[in-house]
Amino acid sequence: MSTRPANFYDHTRDELLALASRWGFPPVHAARLWAYVYLAGVEDWRAMPELPARYRAKAEGELGFGRHATAAETHSADGFTRKYLLELSDGRRIETVLMRYTGRVTACISSQAGCAMGCVFCATGQMGFVRHLSPGEIVAQAMHVDAVLRGVGPGGALADAASDSPHERHERLRNLVLMGMGEPLHNYDAVMKAIDILRDPNGLALGAKKITLSTVGVVPGIRRLAEEKRPFHLAVSLHGATQEERAALVPAAKKWPLDELMDACRDYIARQQRRIFYEWTLIEGKNDTPESAHAVGRLLQGQLAQVNLIPLNPTTGYDGAPTGREAAKRFQEILAGYGLPSTVRQRRGIDIAAGCGQLAVAKR
Ligand code: SAH
Ligand code: SF4
Repeated sequence: MSTRPANFYDHTRDELLALASRWGFPPVHAARLWAYVYLAGVEDWRAMPELPARYRAKAEGELGFGRHATAAETHSADGFTRKYLLELSDGRRIETVLMRYTGRVTACISSQAGCAMGCVFCATGQMGFVRHLSPGEIVAQAMHVDAVLRGVGPGGALADAASDSPHERHERLRNLVLMGMGEPLHNYDAVMKAIDILRDPNGLALGAKKITLSTVGVVPGIRRLAEEKRPFHLAVSLHGATQEERAALVPAAKKWPLDELMDACRDYIARQQRRIFYEWTLIEGKNDTPESAHAVGRLLQGQLAQVNLIPLNPTTGYDGAPTGREAAKRFQEILAGYGLPSTVRQRRGIDIAAGCGQLAVAKR
């Protein structure tokens, strides 16, 4: 039997309350512990004076705060992006990114160490699958970013670096995207539990509308999500608008073909009454031509959809170049002709290799 204490961050609030009862304590103590951690940001047992000594001693013996050590940290030159290479308890490393665009702070977190899906242009895909993350390992990444925002995390307050607004000092984490390392729907249950913990209204209370889960297109996972009462945003990585083109970039498309994916997406939109964000990594001369744009238009026409265009972040394992501004604009205009709104994501942070998985590869 392992002697390592359980990870506090693996628990929902209800589970923590149930644990207290099992240990013979009133649940109110556990509610207080929860508030210390998620509302006050306290992780030091000695800094929880409102917990009765006996409960605190028991909880301290049984639970640890499984926060990740920072193995490496890089800040983009413009001060808008911070990237953390975080170390798990078994020494594996994952990435968490803090982004500040137009005053809004977003944490980009990982769901797995490595990834089994093998997308050819992705640094994480190039490294292969290592393992799933536990719910607590996912939650702790958000708490890491929250601690930075509160000015107690590594590197001090973000406002020091991105001092566009001193009023945003000591803010809390509000926006979350699951777009770091790994495929979230390949680690479905752990990811859903982590989201539930982060959404708990007595805790960090992230708004569902402030959370986006990005998937490579795991069809059974999308079908499961369509049945859920978890109203966060869904992003689907498309990258190719025909089965052949897509499968060349996204090997997972061989398992879940484009027509099955589109069926699942249409079903999701109908059941959830919510739009899907389609992601499209723009690779020069590969999938950024007017023909590609028309193919996307025909494929998604009539869907409640938005296309997010992301110029390729070059990786050492893939010989491709990002699409330029003009070609990206042209792509957008063609999509607009099909009634499809789109955005081009800014490539801030490229100087710190802020593309998915790139820091972990560089530090191996
Ligand atoms: N596994 C999920 C979420 C993580 S990747 C998914 O694939 O959707 C998040 C987004 O970053 C995906 O759209 C992915 O295709 C994109 N991405 C990965 N590597 C990239 C790179 N080198 N340049 C640009 N976008 C990349
Ligand atoms: Fe995995 Fe997403 Fe990277 Fe594809 S793009 S290899 S699914 S992390």
